[in-house]
Parts: sequence; C-alpha cells; structure tokens
Amino acid sequence: MKIEEVQSTTKKHRVASHTHIKGLGLKEDGIALSIGSGFVGQEQAREASGLVVDMIRQKKMAGRALLLAGAPGTGKTALALGIAQELGSKVPFCPMVGSEVYSSEVKKTSVLMENFRRAIGLRIKENKEVYEGEVTELTPEETESTTGGYGKSISHVVIGLKTVKGTKQLKLDPTIYDALIKEKVLVGDVIYIEANSGAVKRVGRSDAFATEFDLEAEEYVPLPKGEVHKKKEVVQDVTLHDLDAANARPQGGQDILSMMGQMMKPKKTEITDKLRQEINKVVNRYIDQGVAELVPGVLFIDEVHMLDMECFTYLNRALESSLAPIVIFATNRGISSIRGTDITSPHGIPVDLLDRLVIIRTLPYTLAEMVQILAIRAQTEGLSVDEESLAFLGEIGDRTSLRHAVQLLTPGSIVAKTNGRDEITRADLEDIADLFLDAKASAKLLQEQPDKYVS
Ligand code: ATP
Repeated sequence: MKIEEVQSTTKKHRVASHTHIKGLGLKEDGIALSIGSGFVGQEQAREASGLVVDMIRQKKMAGRALLLAGAPGTGKTALALGIAQELGSKVPFCPMVGSEVYSSEVKKTSVLMENFRRAIGLRIKENKEVYEGEVTELTPEETESTTGGYGKSISHVVIGLKTVKGTKQLKLDPTIYDALIKEKVLVGDVIYIEANSGAVKRVGRSDAFATEFDLEAEEYVPLPKGEVHKKKEVVQDVTLHDLDAANARPQGGQDILSMMGQMMKPKKTEITDKLRQEINKVVNRYIDQGVAELVPGVLFIDEVHMLDMECFTYLNRALESSLAPIVIFATNRGISSIRGTDITSPHGIPVDLLDRLVIIRTLPYTLAEMVQILAIRAQTEGLSVDEESLAFLGEIGDRTSLRHAVQLLTPGSIVAKTNGRDEITRADLEDIADLFLDAKASAKLLQEQPDKYVS
C-alpha cells in the first residue's frame, strides 16, 4: 500500500451543510418565492442577489465585489452559493474565512491567490479519436542500429487492426509496441487506441486504457487521418488551482488532470508564482485555440474584517485582473478598526475597497422560518423528524443560532437509532440539547467560571 498525500477536505465540508441550496429561488420577474431552490425567507437579500447575478451576466461587476452584511447564521454563505449556482451548474464556488490567510508557512497573498485560482474554472474540450479493433498483425520493423552497429533496433511497428470499416495497417512508434507486449496483446485480441489530432495518446485492452503516452509531436508515427473509428468530444471542468497542483506534483495517470499535469515537463515543485505564470500561458493558448473556455466562479471570503491592509491592497489589485472570479465578502461587523491599524472604517474594510462594493444586508430569521429551514435540512440529510421535534429545534435555534440547531440533527439521529427508532423525537433532542453547548453558552460558562479553565 502506498502512503498517499492527504488532501484537505475543509472546502468540501464547508459546502456540505448547504447542499439543499440549489439557487436563489426567484421567479422569472426576479421576485423571491417564499420558499424556492431550498431557500427560505430572506427575500430582499435574495432579490438583490438576483440583480447582482444579472449584473455579472452583463459583465457589469468587473472590478467590483459584493459584500453581504448581517448577523451570523443569517444565510450569507447560502446566498453566495445560491449566486454561484444561478451562474451555472459547473461554476466553481470557493469558500474561505479571512483568518485562513494567517499561516506560518505561506505568505498571506499566496493564500489569497490560491483561493482566487480555486474559484476560476476552465472547461476543456477534448476531441478523442478512438480506434477499436482486432489485432491481425503485430510486427516490429527492425533496422540496423545506427548508434553502435551491433544488433538491431525497432524503428516502428506495424499493427493490422480489423475495425468495422475493414482492416487497416497502422505504422506506430516502438514505445507503443513495447506497451502492447507488456500488456500481452496477441494477434486476435481486441485493442483500443486513443488519439488526439492523429497522435497516439493511449492504448489498452479496453476503454480504460492501461498505457498512456506522452510523446512529443516528432516522436510518434501519427495515425492516419480520416480513418477514425469513433470520435467523441469530452468536456472536463477543472479549476486553475487544480492545474497548478497537478503540475506541481505530476503523478502520471489517465485522468485529465494527470494529462494536464504534463502540460509542462514533469518536475516536482511547489506551486510558485513562476509555475502559475506558466500555467496561465498554456491556458491562454488553449483559450486562443478554442480548446478551453474560462468559467469565472465565486470566491466567498467570510469574516472579511480578519484581513489586514496587505490583503486588502492585494485584493484591490486582483479584482482588476482579467482572470478574476466574482468576489463575495461577508461580515457581521459594524464600524470597526482595520486589522493591524487604528483606522476605523465601516465593517473594518478600507474605504477604497468599500467604494467598489455592492452591499446587501441579511436579516435574522423568524421562528417559523427557522423551523422551515430545519425541515429542509432534515429532508436533505434523509432524516425523519416529527413536527413537535422540529418546533423544539426551532426554539433552540431561536435562542442560540440556526447553525447550532442544524448541527443537532446528526447527533439526534444517532440517539434515535440507538433507541431503535428511525424518527427523531423531542425526547432524543432534549437528551442531546443538554449534552452539547452552543457557542454562546460555552462562552458564558467560561466567563462565569474563569478559575476552572487554563488560560
Ligand atoms: P452566515 O454565513 O450568515 O453565518 P450561513 O449561510 O453560513 O450563514 P449557517 O448559520 O451555517 O448559515 O446556517 C445553518 C444552515 O442553515 C446551513 O445549512 C444553511 O445552508 C442553512 N440556511 C441558512 N439560511 C437559509 C435560508 N434562508 N434558507 C435555507 N437554508 C438556509
């Protein structure tokens, strides 16, 4: 077994609790349905977000950003995700928290840059040509070695391939012969050869393509043009960060990322500015050639007041770039000081950035709205909860926070299962409500009994 590099799942977890959000839930005329696309209430903010989606579509948001201002748990993340989904199903959504930029290993601007690139998608269209047929002949053509004079070397290999269109003789590179021998391909076997613009990319005994080639144009003997047995267009969606990461750690493999990971000569390296610039060059070339298309996504930066001047300066510049995603900030702060300075400013954001912002306010939910949101969440998680329990959870949410109430659903279902039931009842929730503290209750406890905790 190999020890694989551990991939962070933070980003996925952050979106996981919002899977029920499928859009903004607006009617044709832009008016919010009271419940729609998984969204409940917060109508004004949803309608305003709908207008922002229109502005983005009309390219009127270039150089600008959106700020969602409101108390915690008022659906700011959900709104940002809804906006991304309204822009298209394959539009990347990258959530981050301001404090993420402070790491001892990576520069603050580098963290921001990485997240920017996670929020920019690239749709790559590949034309695959696939030959499929029975091998009727497999002969290496040998020539005298030109180097040492001893022995013979293979200059190319001839494969007879019986396809539905008849038998063809293909003259291929010796590396392909080696691969076929390695796979123990014999005359009579069915093989697949995948090519891209006449260049052999992969061969194998099935569509899974066991062996892959990374031949330079001058290294292969191209397959004859116009005799393609099957042609299919494959569309792949990746982000610029995926490409950075694949090229920094090329592993070789058969998926698109590994192939793109060989856009540059495989070399193990960190993701550096230089690497990113190289990737940009290749990406721009693909775009010019019509092979790829940019899909700007949404970068969501929660707790924007955690950023400092250096980050804000960077963001101001990054927003101007032609390769910028839609940036959505969120805050629950009013007038506060800009981190690291004694300058006070609305939301702790410098005025020059504030000038570029479109601001939308989110309002607290009513008890009934909370109950509705909890019901949707329970349904999405496949949990059954009776009315009385939902009302009880709603009250907990109203007293503590919506997030806390939503989070109680999972332990609630475990308690119900332990008691031999599928349905969560009020008693289960009462049990766990005593076991888990919400953030406010926990803070209160710390304040009341400071001597009991290490500080
Ligand atoms: P904020 O970013 O303002 O703190 P949030 O969107 O992160 O808010 P949470 O506090 O995490 O909201 O909300 C808990 C759960 O409720 C999440 O699953 C979220 O998707 C969901 N939720 C919040 N607002 C709504 C809404 N208006 N309609 C449906 N679900 C919502």
